[in-house]
Amino acid sequence: MAVERTFSMIKPDATKRNLTGAITKMIEDAGLRVIASKRVWMSQREAEGFYAVHKDRPFFADLVAGMTSGPTVVQVLEGENAILKNREIMGATNPENAAEGTIRKTHALSIGENSVHGSDAPETAAEEITYWFSQTEIVG
Ligand code: UDP
Repeated sequence: MAVERTFSMIKPDATKRNLTGAITKMIEDAGLRVIASKRVWMSQREAEGFYAVHKDRPFFADLVAGMTSGPTVVQVLEGENAILKNREIMGATNPENAAEGTIRKTHALSIGENSVHGSDAPETAAEEITYWFSQTEIVG
């Protein structure tokens, strides 16, 4: 299995509830390493650009409003099979459908306030890492 890098976010609904450490511990306990991390308060433009793929979806305005409502912790994670592994520990998008023990089952409030983001494929991981981090900020 290959060592991969993926992009992760601890969303404002979680940072507001002081869950940055608890969620990062779940990521580390699953064997992934945090090799870059910073706290950002997204602008409207940054949130719209990051989620541009969803711009025509009915939930887009609420998504952008949520992402600009408080601080987000953006991270790069590294490990064996990191992209799929992070999706597994996150759980399903809607926490009602998320498996026991996942981050979203444990901490998410709703589909709109679902605490974390994780890249879904190698191409999106590379794009999303570059969107938020310069090379010098990533220390593997
Ligand atoms: N989202 C929402 N309502 C929906 C679908 C998605 O509010 O019906 C939000 C939710 O916060 C989700 C984000 O939009 O995390 C991106 O959606 P995606 O389908 O990419 O889910 P993810 O990859 O985050 O599980």
